[in-house]
Parts: sequence; C-alpha cells; structure tokens
Amino acid sequence: MIVIGGGLAGLAASVALAEAGWRVRLFEQRPFLGGRAASYVLPDGEHVDNCQHVTFGCCTNLEDFYRRVGSGNKIKFFDRLLLLDPQGRRGEMHAGILPAPFHMTGSFLTFSPLALKDKIAIARAFYSILQSGGHPPELDEPGGLSMLAWLQRHKQTDAAISRFWRVVLVSALSEELDHIDARYGIDVFWKAVLSNKTGYRMGVPAVALGDLYDGCRASIEEKGGEVVFRSPLRGLKIENNKLNAVIFDNGREESADAYVIALPHLVLSAILPESLKQTDTALGNLDKIMVAPITGVHFWFDRQVMTEPFITLLDTTTQWIFNKTALYATENGASTVKAPAPAQASAKENGQYLQLVISASHDLLQKPRQEIIDLCLAEVRHALPAAREAVLTKATVIKEAAAIFSPQPGVDRWRPMQQTSIAGLFLAGDWTATGWPATMEGAVRSGYLAAEAVLRSARTPQKFIQPDLKPDGLAGIWAKD
Ligand SMILES: Cc1cc2nc3c(=O)[nH]c(=O)nc-3n(C[C@H](O)[C@H](O)[C@H](O)COP(=O)(O)OP(=O)(O)OC[C@H]3O[C@@H](n4cnc5c(N)ncnc54)[C@H](O)[C@@H]3O)c2cc1C
Repeated sequence: MIVIGGGLAGLAASVALAEAGWRVRLFEQRPFLGGRAASYVLPDGEHVDNCQHVTFGCCTNLEDFYRRVGSGNKIKFFDRLLLLDPQGRRGEMHAGILPAPFHMTGSFLTFSPLALKDKIAIARAFYSILQSGGHPPELDEPGGLSMLAWLQRHKQTDAAISRFWRVVLVSALSEELDHIDARYGIDVFWKAVLSNKTGYRMGVPAVALGDLYDGCRASIEEKGGEVVFRSPLRGLKIENNKLNAVIFDNGREESADAYVIALPHLVLSAILPESLKQTDTALGNLDKIMVAPITGVHFWFDRQVMTEPFITLLDTTTQWIFNKTALYATENGASTVKAPAPAQASAKENGQYLQLVISASHDLLQKPRQEIIDLCLAEVRHALPAAREAVLTKATVIKEAAAIFSPQPGVDRWRPMQQTSIAGLFLAGDWTATGWPATMEGAVRSGYLAAEAVLRSARTPQKFIQPDLKPDGLAGIWAKD
C-alpha cells in the first residue's frame, strides 16, 4: 500500500490501513508530518505551530484518530468561550442546566454585546434550523445558497449578522458569509450548538501540533511499513485505466497493490495527466475548488498580559487570542514544548507567548508583515490592558494563502469521492466528498473513507468512520436520521 501526503488525511488512511494489517509506505515531501496542521522550527530555533488549531466536541473522527495514535490526552477541552468587544463588554458562552437545544439559553440571554432585538432574530433562525432537523429545504436549491442570503431571508439584524453569525462562521469556515454555502453554515450550528450539549466544547492541543503525530509512525512501522520524508510525488503511471506506479524525482518509480493520494487538490490537479482530466469529470473539476487564507500572528511579551486561555475579539481584525504559555503549561507549571528554544524558555519564566488567528484574511495577504504586526499589536493592547506597558520582544506572521478549500455555495458538486474510476487510485484530503468543511475532522474522515474504499475493493470491508454525536435532550424531537 502506498500513501502520498503526510497531512491528517494521509495519516488517518495510513493508520487505519496499518491497523487492518496492511504494510503502508507513506511518502511526504517535507521532513515532518502534519501538513497544514504542523509545527515548524523558525530560523532562530523557536518552535511554532503554523497556526493555532482547535477542535470541537462534535469532531468525533478526529477524536478517534487522536485516541488511536495515543494523543487523546494531549487535547485540553474547555466548556467556556469568552468574547470581548472594543467597548470592553464581555460575553460568555457555556452550557447551563437546560437540555439541548436550550443549554446555551442562559449565557445567550445575558450576552451583553447583542441587544434584545438581535437575540430574538437569532432565536427565530435557530428555531427554523431546529424544525428542519438541521437541514432546511431551501439548502437544496441548485447551485447552493449563500449563508448571507439565508440570514437575510430569515430577517437577521445587522448586529446579529456581524456580531454573532459572522463571528462564529468566519472562525469555523474561514470565509465571509456571502462565500459560504448555507449548508455548511447551518451544519456548524446544528452539530456544534443545537443538537447536543457537548458539541460546542472546544479542544485545544496542549502540545505542539507536531507532537500529536508521534504515534503515527509507530503504528505504520509496527506492520512493517515506513514513512519516507523529502519525497515529492511528480507523476502517476496510469496504463489501461489502472494506476501502476507513482513517480518521484529522477523518474524513480514505486509500485503497490493500491494507492491513496492525500495531497492538496491543486497539487494533485497539476500532477494528473491532462487526458484523464478531460475524460473524468470527477478529476477534471478540481481547479474549480477555490482556496481561502488564514493568518497566524505570534507575539512574545516580556511579561504576563492575559490570564484566560483564549479570548474571541469582536469587531476587530484579530479574531482570536490564544495564550500559548498557559495552554502548553502542565499541572506543575512546566511547558510541554520539547527542547524549548531560548525565546520560549524566557517566555515561560517571565513573559508570555500569544498566538492570534485571523481567518478569511484575504485583506492581509498583500499587506507587509510589519503593518500586520502593528495593527494586531494595537488591538491586543486595546483588549488586554496589561499588554499596554509590556514590551513585545518578538513577533512572527505566518500567512497561509491556501489554508482551506473555500466553502463556496455549490462547492460540493466539485468534491470527488475517495474511490476513483482508475483502478488502484484512491483519494483523501479535506477537499474530497466528506460532507464536512475544510477541517482536521474533514481530513480524518476523508482518510478513513479512503481506507474503507481500499478494503472494500480488496473484498475485506471494514469500517473506520465514527458516528456523529447523537442529538440529546429535546433536540432529538427534531433530529432526522
Ligand atoms: C492556518 C490554518 C489554520 C487552521 N485552523 C484549523 C482549526 O483550527 N481547526 C481545524 O479543524 N482545521 C483547521 N485548519 C484546516 C486543517 O489544517 C486542514 O483542513 C487539514 O489539516 C487538511 O489536512 P489534509 O491532510 O487534507 O491536507 P494537508 O495537511 O495539506 O496534507 C497534504 C500533505 O501533502 C504533502 N505534499 C504536498 N505536495 C506533495 C507532493 N508533491 N508529494 C508528497 N507530498 C506532498 C504536504 O506537505 C502535506 O503534508 C487550518 C488550516 C490552516 C492552514
């Protein structure tokens, strides 16, 4: 078995197939695993994640994957989400004693950044999502319906849109509301907020992202497989509608019984033979799936500037501030980051390391890094009074231009299944048909689906996909199977 691409999709497929007894050879172009959810060493020796990654209680397959590779205990879950607006008003979202879908009612009613009329509008929209069991019929309109159009049809106020729907959905889906298919937007609220009392709980890695994959290599190697780094795929040898080999640098070929290609869709599209793209529409439309950016800004201060583990900011360019020093701290106050570099050591002892996230950061792509640092620093100092006196000792900006596939209205028609028309060729990647947006959960689902497809075609079927959280409380009344 050959898997190409060591992101979460390739890793999930590899681990599942290794567990099913297959010898997996995983080829990755970079010298480390994790793809778009990975850790780097900066030129000055500092270890950073490319960007803060979070998961939610409703991400059942990612949770299963972390458990399989021994990383389940490396995620810290939080029940309380804190929001702050520029006027200093705080809002808190957490589950109260009421059953789903009413568990958030208490914190929603006391949420000060929204007025009563905004809350009534949101409650009305929630009711129509509930009534339809998470799938209002208008979502099936040909070509898709944008989330903004759906919100306008449901008469949402400007403040409800900008301070509630946009805040949640730009963070979750990394696109503006007019570029989000309403199906994805509504699914976020159904799965994470309305149908279950625990779906909204936010999981944040307590270790560097790269450390979450420590167990993957062992699972692959236990079955006689291997992980081969610095091996960029250059071509596919397809003969008589069958994939016979994958081609690396200098024309080196590797062969196997089956192949899971888990590359970003635009990389795969550039590798696929033009003749195949013209005859196979599932493979010929990959270029129609657009991408969207996320920017991570890393700040090191000379002292403590925040106590909360993370905060969401309203009405600012900066959307989230994560307190990495606190998130990496073990119970005894030590850091989980392996071999801390000098700057981390000093942040741990005296200062603080914060990571800011800006999703759908289209406007920042062309901006010089220093301008982004100045803008975000001003916002952090406005939000966190303790940062006003603190010295910023270091800052880094990581722009990921193709962070996710853009969940544009109607995008599902371009997302191919994991099994292809070419014998032996299987696909994985967050962009394949999983029903999920571009997330770690979507990537793991695609890897499990690819592994299931490989085993089905070998006539040894096995299931890896985990079910969604069951609707609980009163949400079950509206849920559809
Ligand atoms: C900045 C940022 C923030 C994000 N935040 C979140 C978040 O908070 N929560 C969440 O759930 N998701 C988040 N995501 C999305 C999530 O990271 C992705 O959906 C997921 O990691 C995609 O995994 P994948 O395996 O499908 O693709 P990738 O991770 O892109 O994996 C593809 C792999 O193929 C390798 N490769 C590329 N070309 C070749 C080649 N020619 N030969 C061999 N190998 C090759 C790449 O190096 C990579 O390892 C974020 C993404 C980014 C970029």
